[in-house]
Amino acid sequence: MGQDEFDAVIIGSGMGGMCAAARLTGAGKRVLVLEKSPYLGGRCSHRVRSDCVVTTGAVMIPMGSDSAIREAFDAVGAEMDMIDLTGRMRYRLRHGDYDTPPEGGGLIGMIEFAMKDGAQAKALFREMMAALGGDMPPEEMTTQQWFDQRTDNPDVKDLFRGFCAALMGTNLHEIPAAEFFRFLGSSSKGSRFGMTRLGNGALMDTLAEAITARGSEIRRQTRCEKIIVENGRVAGVVAHGGEGGEQRIVSPIVVSNAGPDETATLAGGEEVFDEHYRARLNRNAASAPIFHISFVMDRPLIEGFEGCMVFGNNENLIYLEIPSAISPETISPEGTFLHIAYGAPSDAANSDLTAEFENTMRELEANFPGVTEEATFLVKAKHSGRAPGMHRWPGFGMPSETSVAGLYNVGDGCIPPGTIGTEGAAASARVAVAQILATH
Ligand SMILES: Cc1cc2nc3c(=O)[nH]c(=O)nc-3n(C[C@H](O)[C@H](O)[C@H](O)COP(=O)(O)OP(=O)(O)OC[C@H]3O[C@@H](n4cnc5c(N)ncnc54)[C@H](O)[C@@H]3O)c2cc1C
Repeated sequence: MGQDEFDAVIIGSGMGGMCAAARLTGAGKRVLVLEKSPYLGGRCSHRVRSDCVVTTGAVMIPMGSDSAIREAFDAVGAEMDMIDLTGRMRYRLRHGDYDTPPEGGGLIGMIEFAMKDGAQAKALFREMMAALGGDMPPEEMTTQQWFDQRTDNPDVKDLFRGFCAALMGTNLHEIPAAEFFRFLGSSSKGSRFGMTRLGNGALMDTLAEAITARGSEIRRQTRCEKIIVENGRVAGVVAHGGEGGEQRIVSPIVVSNAGPDETATLAGGEEVFDEHYRARLNRNAASAPIFHISFVMDRPLIEGFEGCMVFGNNENLIYLEIPSAISPETISPEGTFLHIAYGAPSDAANSDLTAEFENTMRELEANFPGVTEEATFLVKAKHSGRAPGMHRWPGFGMPSETSVAGLYNVGDGCIPPGTIGTEGAAASARVAVAQILATH
């Protein structure tokens, strides 16, 4: 068995793991990233299928100067090659489509469009502004309850049902109202988002190059099999793969991007943690599944549409984007159009995923008659279990720090309040690295 020594070992090269590696490397630490797959990025990567650049998960990626992702790239001087999609949102309700104004201020417009009653819309908007201004609902109230107490307009509830499912990854009845407003607040404060120009995998490869150029190391096809815990603190990991075969890596810091539950398994079971941490691990432990459908056609489903479409008129179909229309030269062969659609189960914890996936397909056809016949489907995936939409629901993220000294979690099981998805994973790395640098 070979043996190496590093300042920190990172298990997994998802957004959380890579951002932790970048921040630690930028702070002068020598870090080793272990990735079991040949590809970097986890659910923020891509594969080439039928000559198209198809995502493994995320499409809308925060890129503004306040983003934790951008900060991590900056920490090692890596470029983010992105196409800005800020303000290019279309919401489809039963009575029509609403395009947000590119200059901002879309929230009141969306509500007015949904409610079709200016006075009612303004009253609801004022209440939302009050919550955003600090008059927060109690933590135990769900977003569904918050809206139910204020309006019986079904269209505005459909609007925010689609918004929550598409942009926050779970449903109105699952997201605490306070978390909904924290997210709305952070995403409306001039934050920008976009699509990677060459695919998410290329974005992560750029970050990897900057990390390794500064002395840290990344080993692909190398699986961490065990986190070594001795006397209540981390001592390193055992890994297997690559040219090294079985490797024992000594390190006082292990940052796991494998998800909080898998981290516990790797560390030898929940018993290694104290009672308080075990209770957190098992409270609201549900993940958020998501359906991913990618397909290619020789015309765009929506002529001239170069943005992101959120659906409030369906049970399951929540999102559509046409990456080839946004970046014609880089995503699919000339004359072909890659489309990405997402679906969400109506109940993240209790739905019949197979039945609701089939319904997502039916709703795609209902919204765009003929698509099922005309398109070539490249991906039809139900993401749940170890690679879900998110490892924990918004508002229920685990802390990054564990009760084992030197052991930290990053990724979308540890999203800090007000964040989701890739940004949440990157923000968890910001939290973990700040704790590491302050403590060790
Ligand atoms: C279909 C879909 C659509 C989505 N859309 C969006 C979106 O538009 N915008 C957005 O922000 N978010 C989106 N998300 C969520 C986003 O993709 C995730 O929240 C984010 O990418 C998760 O990052 P992570 O840090 O948790 O790492 P992960 O992506 O979970 O990566 C973990 C990595 O660790 C590796 N690993 C695990 N165990 C080991 C081990 N034992 N040894 C070595 N390596 C290991 C894995 O191979 C993987 O590469 C979407 C997700 C899905 C599935």
